[in-house]
Order: sequence, then C-alpha cells, then structure tokens
Amino acid sequence: MFSELIDEVPSDSSFKFNFSAKDNLCTIDFQTRAGSRILDGYRPPFDATPVSRLRRAGGLLIGKTNMDEFGFGTFCTNSGYGVPRNPFDIERSCGGSSGGAAAAACLLEDHLSLGVSTGGSISCPASFCGVVGLTPTYGRVSRYGLVDYGNSLDKVGILARSSSMIKNHFPTIAGSDPMDPTSCAQPTLDLDDTQIDSIAVPREAMENIHPSVRDSFLRALDIMRDQLSIDIHEVTIPSLRFALPAYYVLATSEASTNLARYCGMRFGVRGDDVTQHFNDYFSSVRSKNFGKEAKRRILLGTYSRMVGFRNRYYLKALSVRQTTISDYARVLKEHDVVATPTMPFIAPRFSEIERMKPIEMYRADFLTVPPNLAGLPHISVPCGYVDSMPTGMQLVSRHWSEGTLLNIANLWEGVFQYRFPGAQQ
Ligand code: GLN
Repeated sequence: MFSELIDEVPSDSSFKFNFSAKDNLCTIDFQTRAGSRILDGYRPPFDATPVSRLRRAGGLLIGKTNMDEFGFGTFCTNSGYGVPRNPFDIERSCGGSSGGAAAAACLLEDHLSLGVSTGGSISCPASFCGVVGLTPTYGRVSRYGLVDYGNSLDKVGILARSSSMIKNHFPTIAGSDPMDPTSCAQPTLDLDDTQIDSIAVPREAMENIHPSVRDSFLRALDIMRDQLSIDIHEVTIPSLRFALPAYYVLATSEASTNLARYCGMRFGVRGDDVTQHFNDYFSSVRSKNFGKEAKRRILLGTYSRMVGFRNRYYLKALSVRQTTISDYARVLKEHDVVATPTMPFIAPRFSEIERMKPIEMYRADFLTVPPNLAGLPHISVPCGYVDSMPTGMQLVSRHWSEGTLLNIANLWEGVFQYRFPGAQQ
C-alpha cells in the first residue's frame, strides 16, 4: 500500500501523530511519482501545502501511498508500482485511486491518510476499505504541490478510521493559501455541531445497485430515522444520469493538457538517446513510460477538445456540470444532506476486474462523480457489511459545510459500530 516508507521512526518522538500522503502530493523527503513510471526518481524540492501544514502541527510523515497512475482509476490496478490489496480480503481491490491511502487508514490505528479526489477517489476506496473519507468543498484545501489531474476538480481530503480523527486535523489543512488562488475566497471553516433534520435520497441513485448493497444502505437509513430521528425523503436529481459522461469528458480534457509537461526533460525519467530529434525523443519517453490508461485518457481528452468536436463534447459537458450544480442546490435548499450508497457493489476481486471493460470501470463511479463535478463536500462512512466486506454510504452537503458532514458522521458512529480486519468483533 505504500510506494515509499520511512526507514525508521525517529526515537526522539516529539511527534504528536503520524500521517501518510498520497503519492501525488509533493514531499521533500520522499519521491513523488503519482503512481507513474514517468515520474520515477522525481524528488520535489518542496512540500505540498497540506503536508507542510500537518508537519508544522506536529505530524510525522511516515510514507507515500500507492495510487492509480495520476489518479486514473477506480480499483488501484493502474499503478506503475504494483497493486495494493484490500485489508479485508487480499484477493480484492482497495478501490481507487487513493487505494493505498484507504488501506493505510484501515490497517493503522490512529493514522491519518491524505487522499485526493477528482471524481471520487476518496469516497470509493473509503467505501471498499471500510474507513471514513472526507472530500472537502473544491477550494477549501490548497492544491499547491499537488500533481494535477483535472485542475477544476481536484481536492485534497482525509481518510481515517473515524470522523473524530478527521475533525481534529481537518482545520490544519484547510484555509486559504496565497500559493493557490482558488483557496483564497473561502468562508471560515465552522465545525460546530448543527442540527440535522432531513436527508434526501435521490431515486436515480437506487438504480443499478447490487441488491445486497442496496439493502445495507436502506437498513442504514432506517437506523438514522429510528435512532437519530432524522427524516428521510425521496427526491429526484435527473442530472445524476448525465454527470458521469460529462465528468469523463471534462476530466480527460484537463488531464490530457496536464500530462503534456511529462516529456523526459523536466521531471522524473530521462530517455537514453538525447541526440534524437526532440519530437522523437518526447514520443519515445512518453510511449515507454505512460501506462495504458494514461494513454487512453490523453487520446480521449485531446479528441473532446479538438476543433470540430469541442461543441459536441467539451461545451456540452460544461453545461451538464452547471445543471448538476443547480439540481443539487435545489435539493440542498430543503434538506441537510443528500445520501446515496457510495459504490454500487462491494470491493471486486482482481479476477473480476480483469474481465471488466474500461467503460464498465468508469460506470462504477456514477455515484461518486456527481458531487465532485459540482464541487460539493461529501463524506463516505461504512454503513454495513456484505460477505464480510464493508459497504459505504455517501453524504453530500452544501458548499463549505464540511461541519454538517462531520457532525452527521459523528452521530452515525454513535449508533453503528465499524469493523476492522483482525480486530475482535
Ligand atoms: N475513477 C475516477 C477516474 O478515474 C476518479 C478518480 C479520481 O478521483 N482521481 O477519473
């Protein structure tokens, strides 16, 4: 699950807590490879803002966690550095793309994992590994020092065994940072307890969910209603059906431009023959060192932005994004949170993933993508166990209201017991 790990914990232990960082967050003392062979050997001369803030607060960075190459994936099977295994069952996926981060949060007690989500990469692995994963509002946490996937979508968040761990440390990483202008217009973080009265459950979210995962989600809603006295309302959010294709157009468009900088000159690996024409040199380094999924996304993203196709794909996707934002705003005016299952199935076996087509893998993200497209904060909490594997519930709230999510997660933990592998049940 770690792509690099500290050699030895310093004995002078003046550290207050330990944490790990997903490998797309720059760190001085470890390589930063974002799961890609093309960044092999890259040692940034600086720390990403969330990393430097945790260190300043007394945190010990113990290592970098494995991930899908540049965040491209849902099962952590697209890393250039091996595949992390699910702590509940090593034949199954950890989820992606922050798979290593979720496994570390699950296996290590009192551990804080920094993760990153573009289209669900915190919620998905949190759900598959049975931990809590908070994805903040877009712009709440500085992206300075993050290896970009899609700049209009990327968010740094936290995975841990409980919401209280996240609540303790989230204020440290949140807040404006002059190095990332998108973080500078945020309102003050308010984590005071708020009253939670009403949960909206979109009808569209109950389609194509594995029956046992749906049952475990419905049981969780019953507990919320009966034991926490929260009203549950069925609503409709039609754009949930279109958010997924819009996301893949926008995310790959942004990714394909971001990947242009990896050409064997400035970061990471070098090619062997520098006497080649520069075009041949760049092509040979990129062909050799990008994985299959990265190449697929460069093609897809470049195509969607091409003159002649831009109106049909990129601009249309932008308008779906706007509709998704308005749809959520309408529902969140009347309800405190929107709840759905996090993933449509439990963590799949690697043998099952091998048989999946790319489009089937993308489809698995249909519930984690929409809040990301809208820049809304969301949290995934374990809500049941099917075949001894965890299932997750995803809660989405209004922009900047991370406090609501941590509050409802805390109430949930008062009535539902999480399980961890190896622990006495
Ligand atoms: N699975 C989605 C993708 O591959 C989301 C990944 C992410 O959030 N980094 O784009």
